[in-house]
Amino acid sequence: MKRISIERNILEKNNESADFLRELLKKHNCFSINLMSSPGAGKTTLAERMIESLKSKYSIAVIDGDLDTTRDADRLASHGVNVIQINTNGACHLDADMVKKAIPDIGLDNLDLLIIENVGNLVCPASFDVGTNKNVVLLSTPEGDDKVKKYPTMFNVADVVLINKMDLAKFVEFDVSKVEREIKDVNSKAEIIQISAKNGEGIDKFIAVIERFIKKETQ
Ligand code: MG
Ligand code: ZN
Repeated sequence: MKRISIERNILEKNNESADFLRELLKKHNCFSINLMSSPGAGKTTLAERMIESLKSKYSIAVIDGDLDTTRDADRLASHGVNVIQINTNGACHLDADMVKKAIPDIGLDNLDLLIIENVGNLVCPASFDVGTNKNVVLLSTPEGDDKVKKYPTMFNVADVVLINKMDLAKFVEFDVSKVEREIKDVNSKAEIIQISAKNGEGIDKFIAVIERFIKKETQ
């Protein structure tokens, strides 16, 4: 019983920090998304696609969560946007306080879009609100078509689910209609888009959704 109440306190405190962040970003008219998935599902490649598609129209910064390395952050920085690396020193998710500490290095004046690439993990990032407007969850076809019901919390908090690596679906016998059905079961509101971040399939559709969100959430 004691353990349960400690966990609740951690999450409540995190939610307070997340609400503070959301207000702060709103004041600066900055739209933000939280990218979540297993390791290797394609978050960094997707973020690179987003930067290339949107950087001529919007001022973009990225917060990159990683256990130890700057590999993803280096890739993202090569696209000419401001990237802040958070090394979690082994922690398996970002929390709102970590993001809060990174804000002074980002500078919110004139920032239109903040992309947060969470630590690769399909479990606890779903429970830690990091103060963004929208959650984008990637599921890649090589991970298998059984993941939605095994990790329902992640799919439940998603505003958009991207089924990535569609170019590999036929090789790994990924049943995309079953997966879409299961996503709708756990979250009827999530938008589902089939993409290949690598070859660009479906990216325009996703970018259109992001731009629609930006118009709705900012003036
Ligand atoms: Mg990555
Ligand atoms: Zn964790």
